Amino acid sequence: MRKNYRDQRLGEEIKKIISQLLQRELKHPALNQGIITISHVKSAQDGSFATVYFTGIGLDEGAVIDGFNQSKGFIRTEIGKAMGLRFTPDLRFKVDETEQYGQHIDELISRVSGGDSGSAAGMTAVSEAGMTANVSVSEIVDLLESYERFLLFPHVSMDGDTLGAAVAICLSLRELGKRAYVVIDEEIPDIIEFIEYKTTISIKEAEALELENYLSILPDSSDVSRIETRGELFSSGKESLCIDHHITGNPTCDYNIILPEVASTCEIVYDILTEADYPMHEEIATALYVGILTDTGRFQYESTRPQTHRIAASLMEKGVDVNRAFNEVYQKLTPSKLFVEKELLEDMEIFADGKAAVGFITRKTLDLYDAKDADTEGMSEKLRSIVGVEVSVFARELADGRIKTSMRSKNYFDVAALAAKYGGGGHIRAAGFTSEKTMEETLSDIKKSIEAGLMGDCGSDPQ
Ligand code: 5GP
Ligand code: MN
Repeated sequence: MRKNYRDQRLGEEIKKIISQLLQRELKHPALNQGIITISHVKSAQDGSFATVYFTGIGLDEGAVIDGFNQSKGFIRTEIGKAMGLRFTPDLRFKVDETEQYGQHIDELISRVSGGDSGSAAGMTAVSEAGMTANVSVSEIVDLLESYERFLLFPHVSMDGDTLGAAVAICLSLRELGKRAYVVIDEEIPDIIEFIEYKTTISIKEAEALELENYLSILPDSSDVSRIETRGELFSSGKESLCIDHHITGNPTCDYNIILPEVASTCEIVYDILTEADYPMHEEIATALYVGILTDTGRFQYESTRPQTHRIAASLMEKGVDVNRAFNEVYQKLTPSKLFVEKELLEDMEIFADGKAAVGFITRKTLDLYDAKDADTEGMSEKLRSIVGVEVSVFARELADGRIKTSMRSKNYFDVAALAAKYGGGGHIRAAGFTSEKTMEETLSDIKKSIEAGLMGDCGSDPQ
């Protein structure tokens, strides 16, 4: 597993570098048609070569491969420089045939909006049709049965769904007498703090455990790079399991269940715990409910299925205090947050004939009002809610200087495809990426991409 981790990291780094080169440096005309997404990079065991898998919408794939091959010398030099490698692996370029990315998004949307019955477990049919090599819910139950120790890793920029899923699995396994912890390396946002239920430990505490006996679980992301500082810990476990519902990702766990048609990871967790007949007491139900509540924007987003409501109803029957959950999550507006919002609105820009809105918040502004990162929650939704706006971007400066973007769309624009172009990901209506560039550069790039996207790359106005 450790060795695998090295190969995996090498692949992830190469993916990131080529994705960035595609945005800026690679001028070959074939590499500037439509949106090319590097879906994953597989490094050979001996490090001699790496296979770069790409996908995109409406690409002349042969021309893209030629373009990459002609730019290979440059790409390898840049990889060598960026990673400080003495020997840079040779590169092979291939179309991603696994049907998980770009060009199949349309097909996926039609499948997803088509059928809507049954539980999340029943939905694996989509996956069986070729989306991802998913394991079934009952195989996951067998996997959980076969372990006594578990570590759960919520993704960075922690939200209700990733924390709720982690906490629910953790508490349920503990009820069975198994040992489980949620490993975190960031402050839990105030609005979801109440579902922590003493499940979390720090990296330092986790390092003291006998990691080789543990199953590592990644909830609400299929990209190990999204657990950042905890990556090494994650891969020190015996095996790994990813439970996710994002349309983009880089599934590298030993076991993966990724169901993009399900509105929240917590619904998949509900199905797993139900299938296993594992305990689901009030705290577990509350953690799951909060994940569903927040990921569906209080049951408003189009991802909300009839089954989402059925699961929520069942969780209420298990004792969730819905009023308390609502008050905790949505009734905690602070003056700091309001002042930050004032700054956002003052600088916001509406462009692309009123179809797009962009806003940003710098560290300086957060410090000025003594505000936290979590105080920017909901700002991209605010920009999206403007009449006529189809797509919104909210960018904020992280403590380490990187820029984190949150993108939202209303009816037709595919923000997941756009985020993937910048090395990020998400859902069709909510996605994001993290950039090493300055705020100005990031905003200028993304504005151009949105304008181009509105012309057709990311879905066009059906009107
Ligand atoms: P948010 O904008 O609320 O942070 O995230 C919206 C959606 O996009 C979430 O599902 C989140 O997981 C995904 N997302 C946000 N930022 C990133 C990122 O940097 N990388 C990836 N892969 N997904 C992201
Ligand atoms: Mn989620």
